Amino acid sequence: MSILDNRPALKAGIDKVAEVAGYLWMKGWAERNGGNITVNVTEWVDDRMRAMPAITGALAIGKTLPQLKGCWFYCKGTGKRMRDLARDPMANGSIIRILDDCAHYEIVADEPVAPTSELPSHLSVHDYLLAKGSPYRASLHTHPIELVALTHSKKWMEKDVATRMLWSMIPETKAFCPRGLGMVPYMLPSSVELADATIRALDDDYDVVMWEKHGIFAVDTDIMSAFDQVDVLNKSAQIYISAKNMGFEPDGMTDAQMKELSDAFGLPK
Ligand SMILES: [Zn+2]
Repeated sequence: MSILDNRPALKAGIDKVAEVAGYLWMKGWAERNGGNITVNVTEWVDDRMRAMPAITGALAIGKTLPQLKGCWFYCKGTGKRMRDLARDPMANGSIIRILDDCAHYEIVADEPVAPTSELPSHLSVHDYLLAKGSPYRASLHTHPIELVALTHSKKWMEKDVATRMLWSMIPETKAFCPRGLGMVPYMLPSSVELADATIRALDDDYDVVMWEKHGIFAVDTDIMSAFDQVDVLNKSAQIYISAKNMGFEPDGMTDAQMKELSDAFGLPK
């Protein structure tokens, strides 16, 4: 028996998380328990599920997040591996409901899998997105190798320098990551400061934010779309590195070619 039984929409949403978790492992972006996924699954929760008893007591989020009242989330479990989540999402993650005080949650799932230690920061982002009226329901953190390598040079950490280079490698990157890549300087993982800086970068009109010498954080309507944005950016970083390995600096598309693309596809930047 699983909470996903007879809930095809919820099951399809969780299956998508498992599929993405498998891709993260295959790409080499998810060593050990690296990375996190949280998805706002509220729209797929039915009345019978709302009435279900929790399998844990109330647990503190560590923050009060007023927009999350009555919301439900799927969260990767703390210490769990993406490659295991890909096989069995309900043994390596859980579904939580936010209590009415907006400061506590309880687990309503198959097993009492404690959510990621990054829960307060991920939920803060979801709270920010809902406050803004955003349709985005998924957040992803992972360690894409070539993009992380870029952040080890100060040059690429300057605002929109990496964005311009990545967009210029192949037209699809600008089309499918149209807001570009925000940059957040190194901060302690899991810290409130890192969560706040991430939200400031999202608010500066990015869907994808790079954490210096660590990884990437992406938001989108669903988890597959968040993954796709990271995937196209990392493809561009790989093309750049391939050209450098062949011994030359790639020309990149011109500013005029990128403007033409923005006009033709109605891109925001
Ligand atoms: Zn990380």
